[in-house]
Amino acid sequence: ALTAGIVGLPNVGKSTLFNAITQAGAEAANYPFATIDPNVGIVEVPDERLNKLTELVNPKKTVPTAFEFTDIAGIVKGASKGEGLGNQFLSHIRQVDAICQVVRCFVDENITHVSGKVDPIDDIEVINLELILADLETVMKRLQRVEKLAKQKDKEAVAEFTVLDKIKTALEEEKPARAIDFTDEQQKIVKGLHLLTSKPMLYVANVSEDEVADPDGNELVQKVREYAANEGAEVIVICAKIEEEISELDQEEKEMYLEELGISESGLDKLIKASYSLLGLATYFTAGEQEVRAWTFRKGIKAPQAAGIIHTDFERGFIRAETVSYNDLVEAGSMTQAREKGKVRLEGKDYIVKDGDVIHFRFNV
Ligand code: GDP
Repeated sequence: ALTAGIVGLPNVGKSTLFNAITQAGAEAANYPFATIDPNVGIVEVPDERLNKLTELVNPKKTVPTAFEFTDIAGIVKGASKGEGLGNQFLSHIRQVDAICQVVRCFVDENITHVSGKVDPIDDIEVINLELILADLETVMKRLQRVEKLAKQKDKEAVAEFTVLDKIKTALEEEKPARAIDFTDEQQKIVKGLHLLTSKPMLYVANVSEDEVADPDGNELVQKVREYAANEGAEVIVICAKIEEEISELDQEEKEMYLEELGISESGLDKLIKASYSLLGLATYFTAGEQEVRAWTFRKGIKAPQAAGIIHTDFERGFIRAETVSYNDLVEAGSMTQAREKGKVRLEGKDYIVKDGDVIHFRFNV
């Protein structure tokens, strides 16, 4: 499963947020294959469509899809040179698919800040520079190896050399690899390099309890927004402390509490949704009398692959996918009526699954 890593300097609220994630945690029984790792927190992906489908179908059980966050502790200035947990930190980051960078935007005299003052842009630059330096090392090593072959006009080496040189130039200007435009062909080479700065990044501005309802009044948040906009990155505003408090409440209590605070959606829910879409993930549903369930897939995959997410047998023996879009199904009012109205399509092996598809797979055993 794809995972988003939570990173940030010390004392910015990472552990508080990660506690909220593990406490809110998904019901483990539903996800027997999930990673058992204390640094991984599994959350259910909030999706209102699942409630609606449950109303329509009235199944015995409803199962949301889940998403994993990985807690990556230990970044400090100099990590790329092995300071602190440097190398370990970088290898953990290498294993995640997206980065959620927690940035401190709350001012609290009682909580020390590593560099002595609360300056989110400074903090972001410290972390991003460590990632850039680590990538620069990777790229330089690779360049040394490829350069000789490229000079001998080895075709593959020439292509890789061009890519590496482009990345090197960007990194030296302190720009992340993800900001560079590559052709599809080059993109494949970039992927093979496993660079830290090619992972998609999301900024999580952690504000104080009294600011979360109206974060625009916080000028630190404004600065983070400007910085992120420049990079084309998204910013989520949360109050980690509140998230930790509400993570143990049931849905109804949680909604009441949020309403009191003047917040329409919990920060964690916003974070889950944003991470999900940052990774290019989407949801399809299966809806039977036994179970209504949401399944995560990567946008762009075809029906057999989507079936394989449920079970490898479904993919191997795939015949077709009886598919109705969520909106058509809700409009029709029931599966039977959707069928009568001709809204249920029989899709074959080349069908590209869409977000919100409600699918019944037909397969040979
Ligand atoms: P980490 O080092 O990044 O994991 O930071 P922690 O989660 O341990 O938080 C450091 C300190 O900041 C703790 O004392 C937290 O209670 C406090 N803290 C974290 N989030 C918030 C917040 O949203 N508001 C306030 N006032 N304090 C917070």
